[in-house]
Amino acid sequence: MKACLLRTPAPVTTNPLEFADAPAPQPGKGEVLLRVSVCGVCRTDLHVVEGELPPRKSPVIPGHQIVATVEKLGEGAHRFAKGARVGVPWLHSADLTCEFCRSGRENLCDHPTFTGYTVDGGYAEYAVAPEAFVYPIPESFADEQAAPLLCAGIIGFRCLRLSGIQRGSRLAFYGFGSAAVVAIQVARHWGAEVYACTRGKKHQQLAMDFGAVWADEATVEPPEKLDAAIIFAPAGELVPPALKALKKGGVLVLGGIHMSPIPSFDYNLLYQERIIRSVANNTRQDGEDFLRAAAEIPVRTQVTVFPLREANRALNDLKSDRINGAAVLDCRQ
Ligand SMILES: [Zn+2]
Ligand SMILES: [Zn+2]
Repeated sequence: MKACLLRTPAPVTTNPLEFADAPAPQPGKGEVLLRVSVCGVCRTDLHVVEGELPPRKSPVIPGHQIVATVEKLGEGAHRFAKGARVGVPWLHSADLTCEFCRSGRENLCDHPTFTGYTVDGGYAEYAVAPEAFVYPIPESFADEQAAPLLCAGIIGFRCLRLSGIQRGSRLAFYGFGSAAVVAIQVARHWGAEVYACTRGKKHQQLAMDFGAVWADEATVEPPEKLDAAIIFAPAGELVPPALKALKKGGVLVLGGIHMSPIPSFDYNLLYQERIIRSVANNTRQDGEDFLRAAAEIPVRTQVTVFPLREANRALNDLKSDRINGAAVLDCRQ
């Protein structure tokens, strides 16, 4: 099969992915072989390719927003019929036996595997995944539209849940990329008011187009005190201004898997029971609940499609903010 291989992490400007022939994977016990249709390009892929996440497999095929059809069933796999359309997210598997899995927190599993990082992902014509950790894709979404839902969408949904927002809540997003584009639609559906604190007129306009009540640079304090804020940008320096924008008792959710160092700040920014919490991965329940909600709302995604062989270009465009919405690789050769 054709695949994009990462042998050694390097700056994306050096085009580190090699478009090459690789052996097609075979499904193991409980796994399905998937014919990849499209794979979303996520900011986490940048962290894998550039090495902010320490390398765990070499070569590795990145990509964890896979939309695919089931091509072959491994031993004991029976959940899906051949030809069924499914999605594969970042959490590739959890052991289901550790204390976190046993208490309904498989997103915090002690022995997880991650798609496109510790195991091969979807920048390829084929991939394998445990059938228990893939999701049926609602029929109303085209392949390209579904891809950004699988990471940006699900993680954004978990961030919203953990933010504790309710109808009438005021919520800010710091950074307005593909996760925020999906999350704002869910937040508004839930009746929250969204403020966008993001770099550049283009992203601010995008936020206003999706129904934000206010948009400006992250250094500008929103006109109202907020019940919650979510930082989607991987920039630790946003933590103090985001805390400053919160009401007493407000919640700040950090949505990234990687973040630059957080500068020290005055205790007054945190006092009065403000909360900072990170979000790690997602449970299968988050994924199922989100995809159901996304189909009901229905969530619109904005995508730019690149051919698989141009994955390096997609990553470069993502890194330099040249993409509105989400980049998606077309893996059908
Ligand atoms: Zn576990
Ligand atoms: Zn992702």
